[in-house]
Amino acid sequence: MYTKDFLTYLKKFPDENGYFGKFGGAYLTPELENAMKEITDAYWSICKSSEFVAELRRIRKEFQGRPTPVTHLKRLSDSLGNVQIYAKREDLNHTGAHKLNHCMGEGLLAKYMGKKKIIAETGAGQHGVALATAAAYFGLECDIYMGAVDIKKQAPNVARMKVLGANVIEVTEGLQTLKEAVDAAFEAYAKEYKDCIYCIGTAAGPHPFPMMVRDFQSVVGIEAREQFIEMTGELPDAVVACVGGGSNSIGMFSGFLSDPVEIYGAEPLGVGTKIGEHAASLNYGTEGIMHGFNSIMLKDENGNPAPVYSVASGLDYPSSGPEHAYLQSIGRVKYGTASDVEAVDAFYKLSRLEGIIPALESSHAVAYAIKLAKEMKKGSILLCLSGRGDKDLDYVIENYGIPSKK
Ligand SMILES: *Cc1c(COP(=O)(O)O)cnc(C)c1O
Repeated sequence: MYTKDFLTYLKKFPDENGYFGKFGGAYLTPELENAMKEITDAYWSICKSSEFVAELRRIRKEFQGRPTPVTHLKRLSDSLGNVQIYAKREDLNHTGAHKLNHCMGEGLLAKYMGKKKIIAETGAGQHGVALATAAAYFGLECDIYMGAVDIKKQAPNVARMKVLGANVIEVTEGLQTLKEAVDAAFEAYAKEYKDCIYCIGTAAGPHPFPMMVRDFQSVVGIEAREQFIEMTGELPDAVVACVGGGSNSIGMFSGFLSDPVEIYGAEPLGVGTKIGEHAASLNYGTEGIMHGFNSIMLKDENGNPAPVYSVASGLDYPSSGPEHAYLQSIGRVKYGTASDVEAVDAFYKLSRLEGIIPALESSHAVAYAIKLAKEMKKGSILLCLSGRGDKDLDYVIENYGIPSKK
């Protein structure tokens, strides 16, 4: 269960203005300031009520299928040496990834606040699908803003959102991808906030989202800690998760922050270390403000968010949530990288040695755990398998082929 230190940490961070050390905050236009304040107030009064907590717990059990199991990856471990690797199976969460953990929380909050609609942007469409699922469950309207380029590229997710009853709103400004979709969603929200709430897709954005998403995702780390101790009688030596905006990782990490456990985030190194070749913002970025919060970000020569790339579309974000920037700055969590090639190799290893096809995002955590296992020589690693890889099959086969069996 919760340790006392863990509760103290959650109380202390973020502070009342949404800061984790110097990272976080809320840098907003006046219209959005009111809207965010409404969500913050509602979060403190509603999400802490025993009624809300009990209802969310019931939804997680009866609709999402929680708790998700922890699996000992025995054949993968044996293939590497003596280190034992375990996976927290968020791929078995309804809709196949961890994102539903915060979307159901946000949807339930919308319902308690008496809102009729939830609004968000989506890039690859994963967040849009999770949110459309929550909207259908709670009987809320759902507007998903999506760049025209992404709509073409992500046809299966667009279809899923529409089947679930969401409105997919095409954004045709600028490069017609995620950044423009964020701007359009915020613009709509500023106009409509009395009737709707905005639901961010990760542990980033202005306060209160990094805190709220962390708290909703912390179920991953709390469950995993309890399950791991039950299975092995002890804590893992290391915990690993992939970091895009940082929601599955902060959920996993938050269960272990006050334990004597090494914690590692795996960022996407893409195809190289130059700007535009990767999305490893904590490894190569500098301090700056974007999308309403202060964190570590990748910038172009003009100081704007840099173009980013990863084989895993869910990881290609030019910054990371402010809590990660803080945990890196105090040395509590180490952030390393895994490249496209390492991730695809891990994708096939896990598929063939364990019968689990991981999402390409999660494959970065697997790849990092494999590297770490070789360094550690003994002990145990618990990784967060954030999602399943069905969505990535066609892409991987087309671009990397199917390796021959050795
Ligand atoms: C979206 C996504 C991620 C990355 O998002 P975080 O907020 O960094 O967790 C990772 N894994 C899967 C399966 C995803 O869909």
